[in-house]
Amino acid sequence: MDAASNLIQAGYIVAAVLFVLGLKGLSKPRTAVRGNALGATGMLVAVAVTLTDNKILSYWQLALGLVLGAAIGTLLATRVQMTGMPELVALFNGLGGIASVLVVGASFLEVRDLGSEPTTTFTLAAAATGLIGAVTFSGSLIAFGKLRETIGSFGFAGVRVLNGLLFGAGVALGLSMLGAPTSLVLIVAIVVIGLVLGVSGVIPIGGADMPVVIALLNSLSGLAASATGFALGNSLLIIAGSLVGASGLVLTQIMCVAMNRTLAHVLFSEAPTAASAADADDVYAGKVTSTNADEVALLLDTATRVAIVPGYGLAVAQAQHAVRDLTRVLEQNGCEVVFGIHPVAGRMPGHMNVLLAEAEIGYEQLVEMDAINPTFAQTDLTIVLGANDVVNPVARDDPDSPIAGMPILDVDKSRTVVVIKRSLSPGFAGIPNPLFAADNTLMLFGDGKRAVVDIVQAFAEL
Ligand code: NDP
Repeated sequence: MDAASNLIQAGYIVAAVLFVLGLKGLSKPRTAVRGNALGATGMLVAVAVTLTDNKILSYWQLALGLVLGAAIGTLLATRVQMTGMPELVALFNGLGGIASVLVVGASFLEVRDLGSEPTTTFTLAAAATGLIGAVTFSGSLIAFGKLRETIGSFGFAGVRVLNGLLFGAGVALGLSMLGAPTSLVLIVAIVVIGLVLGVSGVIPIGGADMPVVIALLNSLSGLAASATGFALGNSLLIIAGSLVGASGLVLTQIMCVAMNRTLAHVLFSEAPTAASAADADDVYAGKVTSTNADEVALLLDTATRVAIVPGYGLAVAQAQHAVRDLTRVLEQNGCEVVFGIHPVAGRMPGHMNVLLAEAEIGYEQLVEMDAINPTFAQTDLTIVLGANDVVNPVARDDPDSPIAGMPILDVDKSRTVVVIKRSLSPGFAGIPNPLFAADNTLMLFGDGKRAVVDIVQAFAEL
């Protein structure tokens, strides 16, 4: 090894160490910002070191790609609303998958044109990248559509069998490449199978299971990058891809446990049908009680313990700062205020934690589902702010419901529940919520931020 390659390898080790330290930092809210900075620095080192690689023949093409990519990335990142972040992340996962396919594809064509005999590692890694990268790409595009709620969940009888067959065919074709390592037909067939499998694999997955899929696609994007690293013999890509793949798998497992699902159930159980959800009119007709900010302020004035349960609507309304103001005035009035955090509230893991941290609400006030559930019975008032599926009692009480078995926050056990949302529209899972018609529930219809601001004002005027 000459001095230049020694330097490159040393740079890769520095980058890999920074990635690991970055991940470690990200495991706690207090060190997350530093972790993020360390990870980004690792990536900068990785890019800088890679650019010194003498295999690069044309810098101007790289520069063009860099400028174009940076321009698109900057535009997307600055334009995207906070509520659009989960979709953006889904899109990034997909782009990671397709980037791996393209890089391996270029390398495959190069080997083929040179007429050289690829190694077994290259062939298997190229086939794995083709399959996993393509699944990640098309699966993430479907996940993107589902998060935007432009694509619903639909399956057909036998879709899971079809997926099993597609996966089996992809693996079989990958192995058969050992006999024909430069076959363009085989590698293209593997990518096409991967693209179809991504669509047919994600499309039947119902609302309540989507968080698990998002985490899994994130993991797959890492595995595709890692396989690309094996194909190119690039140790940093192997390490970085494995870190993403492994942490994505850990997240998938955490999501499965939190949702009381097994991965096999998410991937292989039949899609829920519309018929299994109750009709909204039957659930709500004549049973919903509305309230207003003045009434809620009166209730809050006498409460000694209040729980606030945020959901996706908090993100839409950007109500986190108003909620902080409400918390402060209640605390000044001698009331204990806690936040009930469901692991899949919002549209991405940790969504509520991020929003509440932005408003400087203390981490110690955020109570996880298992810890807060036994305390609802001693809670005077629970404010459900833009949450729906995560507080839907049918998940607990109706085994035929599409979200059956998903653990929920038992807010219905509080003495009084105030639900703030704009209408009786369903949440992500698309099913009615009997909580809104319960005897101890009052509905405060309106935008989340406006409603909380009005309550704070009404409280001040008492
Ligand atoms: P939901 O999607 O169940 O409900 C959100 C509610 O917010 C809606 O019913 C909506 O009602 C209300 N809302 C929207 N805008 C506003 C606003 N401006 N002001 C007040 N309310 C508003 O959200 P949850 O957080 O309860 O549940 C999350 C769901 O997303 C689960 O089904 C979960 O499986 C799924 N999911 C979660 C992911 C994750 O990683 N966290 C990833 C993918 C999916 P209205 O329109 O009447 O106002």
